[in-house]
Amino acid sequence: MAVLMDGKALARKITDGMRSEVEASGLRPGLAVILVGENPASAVYVKMKERACEKLGFFSSGFRLPADVSEDELATLILRLNNDPDIHGILLQLPIPGHLNEKKMLSLILPDKDVDGFHPVNVGRLMVGDQCFVPCTPRGIMALIDEYDVELKGKRAVVIGRSNIVGKPVAMLLLERHATVTICHSRTKNLADLCREADVLIAAVGRPYFVDETFVKLGAVVVDVGVNRVDNEETAEKLFGSASPKMAKIREKGYVLCGDVNFESVEKVASLLTPVPGGVGPLTIAMLMKNTFDSAKRFAEIS
Ligand code: NAP
Repeated sequence: MAVLMDGKALARKITDGMRSEVEASGLRPGLAVILVGENPASAVYVKMKERACEKLGFFSSGFRLPADVSEDELATLILRLNNDPDIHGILLQLPIPGHLNEKKMLSLILPDKDVDGFHPVNVGRLMVGDQCFVPCTPRGIMALIDEYDVELKGKRAVVIGRSNIVGKPVAMLLLERHATVTICHSRTKNLADLCREADVLIAAVGRPYFVDETFVKLGAVVVDVGVNRVDNEETAEKLFGSASPKMAKIREKGYVLCGDVNFESVEKVASLLTPVPGGVGPLTIAMLMKNTFDSAKRFAEIS
């Protein structure tokens, strides 16, 4: 049976360590979070980020913009925040409505305040191995891997997913640590066979319970990045089985969250496995706080 990689405990440890460091530094890191529109999941994430700021004594500035905000208005706000000395990190919560050019808006954020690490300058720095803001979820995945002393040098790592926010950056980080990395996606042939070669398997697919034991080599480390909301009872029963405790949850709350990994199937073969929730998720926010604090320290050094 796999040992669970406890992301909640690690996030708490990181945050507790940071709290005393922030106090000792005398700094007040400032994070601006921009939410466009009313996407309920995004609103929840934004609240969680603001609450994390409060807990750490950060200055947090939230901007709720209407779904029909113009590019000019959003751009003006970003440029203002770029010049605000109290703000060390700017986060544009994604996705943004379709009439706004996401790449263009992200590119307006000053790379030195781009705590999400999505600006092309930071993406490039990550690629060439320079100091940069590492995107929060990939940075969290690496923190978990390190916490559990997973050896990467010379190991085979397979990443399912090639998004700019998870798949590609985590692949770069694994490569930097001397793993031999394969990136898979929806057109990959013989996916399960490829995945079974992995010593470390990262699932960032966005499909509930997609990865089962047939994808996993005995003793592999499996990191489940997926956060999928299942709100249909019939689908849930097919995925989890009628006896699963998840069925009670869906009846009670109307939905249940699950990962990309079929937990019950994979825990029988993996050596280490992240649960969902409580695995990668809590680390994403902890790393956002870390990136913001790092930024505040850098600004303090140059001022
Ligand atoms: P995404 O942008 O939708 O990317 C999904 C990737 O999976 C794509 O590269 C896609 O391939 C690939 N894929 C889809 N179906 C596939 C299939 N049948 N076989 C092989 N590959 C397939 O998603 P994302 O933003 O990277 O997020 C992935 C998951 O992580 C989601 O569940 C998301 O909610 C979760 N997430 C969690 C956190 C956290 O903090 N825990 C943070 C970010 C994301 P193509 O490129 O070919 O389409």
